[in-house]
Amino acid sequence: MTERAEQGRANALDEVRDLLQRMDMPRAFELARAARQAAGTTEQEIAACFWLARCHYVAAEIDIAIALAAEAGHAAAAVQDVEWQARAHALEARCLEMAGETEAALDVALVAWNALERACMPGQGSLLARQAVTMALAVIQLRLGDLASAMTWCERGADLAGYLPEEGALGAAIDTRACIHAALASRAREAGDPVEAERCERLAIADSLRAVDLARGLGDVDHETSALLNLAESLTLVGEAERALELLQDWARRHPDALARQWAHQRDSLGIVLLALQRPAEAVDAFEQARSQCESPAYRVVVTEHLSAALERCERWQEALASYKDFHALQARVSTERAQRHARVAAARLDIGRERAKARQLASSNRRLRRRADDLARQAQEDGLTGLANRRQVDTLLQAWPRPMSLALIDVDHFKQVNDRFSHGVGDEVLRQLASIMRANCRQRELAARLGGEEFVVIVESADEADIAHVAERLRAAVERFDWTSVRAGLQVTVSVGVARPSEVAVGTELLVVADRRLYAAKRAGRNRVVLEG
Ligand code: GH3
Ligand code: MG
Ligand code: MG
Repeated sequence: MTERAEQGRANALDEVRDLLQRMDMPRAFELARAARQAAGTTEQEIAACFWLARCHYVAAEIDIAIALAAEAGHAAAAVQDVEWQARAHALEARCLEMAGETEAALDVALVAWNALERACMPGQGSLLARQAVTMALAVIQLRLGDLASAMTWCERGADLAGYLPEEGALGAAIDTRACIHAALASRAREAGDPVEAERCERLAIADSLRAVDLARGLGDVDHETSALLNLAESLTLVGEAERALELLQDWARRHPDALARQWAHQRDSLGIVLLALQRPAEAVDAFEQARSQCESPAYRVVVTEHLSAALERCERWQEALASYKDFHALQARVSTERAQRHARVAAARLDIGRERAKARQLASSNRRLRRRADDLARQAQEDGLTGLANRRQVDTLLQAWPRPMSLALIDVDHFKQVNDRFSHGVGDEVLRQLASIMRANCRQRELAARLGGEEFVVIVESADEADIAHVAERLRAAVERFDWTSVRAGLQVTVSVGVARPSEVAVGTELLVVADRRLYAAKRAGRNRVVLEG
């Protein structure tokens, strides 16, 4: 991959973002699909998948958007790319929320939030992800009716947006805050507190105005439209329907090429404003246009209900009744579709659950493997019969020369006779008992090991060369003193010891040669003794 091609790819995805802002959907789709096909690395694939999901989200193709966002999120999680994982999950959560799957949306957003909290990455990349997740949580809490929590998340999201180069983020956060203010106003109205309702609605209006300005400055038609429609609704609620009407008409003049979905929303808002202005006949027209432009079945339900009410106001009873019937049929269909989607989302979650279980299983089998590897490593360093260090460890230590170390080589006297007189089993028991005596008599910086057969070694790391003589004699005496009849009646065991000190040799391994010579001398001298010289 050349640097240029890489650059081209990043630019292509930046362009997708710009195209989405301008609502140039065909071109945005084309570029995102091309980027996905050309992706060479996992990160490029994740980014392209994410932007393609964004295209479908903006085009209100929510099911596809959910699937793609989930795919990007899982791919990112698999390579532990927390930033992309969080961004993709945030998008998935927004889509799920839009589809009415609020619980699942909250679930996904919290997974993303926890991933970010655990990673606690500094830097701008993570800021973008954090802001996206924060706003997803704000929108979800708004939908769940927890307005205080929604406001907290939203304020946080707006703060974070201030640090981002993406200027659209701040406008979107402020638009969301307008919606929360409007929801607070509606709640106050229901609670019979018109003063508080008016106050909240005014806050909503101020935020909507600012969001419209920001979106318009960026040429972001989608955000401008949604902020403007919120504004129109709030103005109508505070008795400024005339001003709302002007704004809606101005929007229509400026955006003749708007998407059908945006037209549908604009016409629906227009109908509401016209009803408030006591112009029900025109409102019916507006709602009918909205219904014909409507792409989303869920939104069509809302519009149809508005239309029915407007027809009623016009005293067109027959049509009003037909429209209500329509509304109920649509509602039934949407709830079936919602149930089906619910099932699909649940099935997808189940898959995720299975994947997680698989990952957990893998982790535990990895843990088992690691334990097994640890066991093997330990076994490789250990003598099987006695559990003392083995020859390998002794060699390793001797090769760590030049360190001040002395060595005592210990050999059981007449061990062959132990095997012959008692049994091989008793011989083994004697070796284990010797190991235990050695362990008990060895201190820190003294390594006891079994070299093989009935030969043992103690290595003392000390600059004081007199130490080894004490250690050797202490061991010899301990073996002689031990009550071997506790192992088998009539048994008596002694050892002979040859000692070597660092000043007597040139390399570590030579300690064994010198000690072996003195061990042999100890045997010849009558056994059960320590030889320090010669
Ligand atoms: P010395 O006092 O001269 O050392 O006499 P020794 O009998 O101890 O020496 P020798 O080398 O002749 O015999 C060592 C014996 O140790 C031979 C072998 O059967 C026995 N032996 C070696 N490894 C083991 C073991 O793991 N278990 C048992 N039970 N016996 C072993
Ligand atoms: Mg021997
Ligand atoms: Mg021996």
